[in-house]
Amino acid sequence: MHAPPPTPADIRRAIRNVPDFPKPGIQFKDITPVLADPGLFGGSVAWLADPFQPGQVDAVVGIDARGFIFAAAVALRLRAGMVPVRKKGKLPFDTFEQSYALEYGQSTIAIHVDAFRPGSRVLLVDDLLATGGTAQAAAQLVEQAGGRILGIHFLIELGSLEGRKKLPGRPIRSLVVFAD
Ligand code: AMP
Repeated sequence: MHAPPPTPADIRRAIRNVPDFPKPGIQFKDITPVLADPGLFGGSVAWLADPFQPGQVDAVVGIDARGFIFAAAVALRLRAGMVPVRKKGKLPFDTFEQSYALEYGQSTIAIHVDAFRPGSRVLLVDDLLATGGTAQAAAQLVEQAGGRILGIHFLIELGSLEGRKKLPGRPIRSLVVFAD
């Protein structure tokens, strides 16, 4: 007998809140207990791939670094390629770059210029939507590289930070929403 698939509430219960990491005031959402449990991990991947079926997506883009874990598994499930968006300076070939504001300071992420065939259908995946700056910059990179975004899927959304407002008109899904 297989165990029933986990509910969003099961996954929510497994996410560990770590106060004041990596700096005071941040409520860090630790997904490692989800990854450590094959049922919860598998259920998360199934949910992140949903509603797409194999053949409907050409590439799953994962954002450095926790996004890679989920994007790779979603890509295999959808029989799509996996494309990494990385912090500046990590990708070896020619890149497009986007800078964006963080809570303090800024960051730059990059994608290979030849990541997609023109018009490739892309699902963008990350572990968590906070202010939306990272996802917005990643979405711009995907389009700069010739990809067409079908969806942006997150495991976790921090609702109070209103990251969705930075992604107007984009089809966004998140499995677990925290109010704080
Ligand atoms: P943002 O650009 O503000 O939406 O931040 C999203 C990125 O930062 C994601 O790639 C997350 O992995 C990471 N992140 C931001 N806030 C948190 C948090 N409270 N807990 C865990 N990861 C976070």
